[in-house]
Amino acid sequence: MTVSSPAPLDTLTLEAEDERQMMAQAGHHTPRRGRLIVFTGPSGVGKGTLLRSLRHRYPALKLSVSATTRSPRPGEVDGQDYFFISRDAFEAMVEQGELLEWAEFAGNLYGTPKASVRQDIEAGHWVILEIELEGARQVRHTFPDAMQLFVMPPSLEELESRIRLRGKDADDAIERRLQRALVEIDAASEFDEQIVNDDLEVALQHLEGAIFKD
Ligand code: ADP
Ligand code: 5GP
Repeated sequence: MTVSSPAPLDTLTLEAEDERQMMAQAGHHTPRRGRLIVFTGPSGVGKGTLLRSLRHRYPALKLSVSATTRSPRPGEVDGQDYFFISRDAFEAMVEQGELLEWAEFAGNLYGTPKASVRQDIEAGHWVILEIELEGARQVRHTFPDAMQLFVMPPSLEELESRIRLRGKDADDAIERRLQRALVEIDAASEFDEQIVNDDLEVALQHLEGAIFKD
């Protein structure tokens, strides 16, 4: 497949009154501009769990829904967890420049639809991209102002145990995720902050502090 680099969003400048009020109620400063936050870390470290809790506390935060060629796991809903699409459809999105970033991970393609992120940012929202390392690197290039956060496991043993206990991936998919985890953890220092997800509440507080600082 031929790939061109993702085009930048046009602007990060519009206001959103509801978002400012929400942040003000939470005792944080009141943002006037949309913002992009990249959230990366090995599969099974707890990114989804942390983001669910964060959005429960701050419902106005937007979580971008990615497109993927992976099959849905039990319980996953199309359009909510991911847009589950064919490889042909994914490649057409790449060709048409519809993805902000994309990457192959453990044999499947994953990418961020550009249009919805652009709309949310232009409306002044804070948008979180939960994406793997290669995608995070692309966003670092196209959006140097985006905040980049990395979630670390307390240990590799605990990471493996979480992936297995989640019980939703086949053995070969688990192996590929664990091998990729070593590469991702090695790159953790590229990110603005590293958040260790040992105790969930402690990690959540670290995450809140990182997102709402200054
Ligand atoms: P990711 O989105 O990074 O792939 P998940 O959020 O699906 O990871 O979490 C993987 C598994 O680890 C889930 O079963 C989840 O309940 C569990 N988990 C997440 N955070 C913690 C934690 N702090 N302590 C123990 N288990 C956790
Ligand atoms: P999973 O199959 O476990 O849902 O996701 C596998 C990996 O793909 C995770 O590290 C997840 O963060 C990443 N991912 C999900 N959506 C995207 C995306 O749009 N772009 C990129 N680059 N990675 C993604």
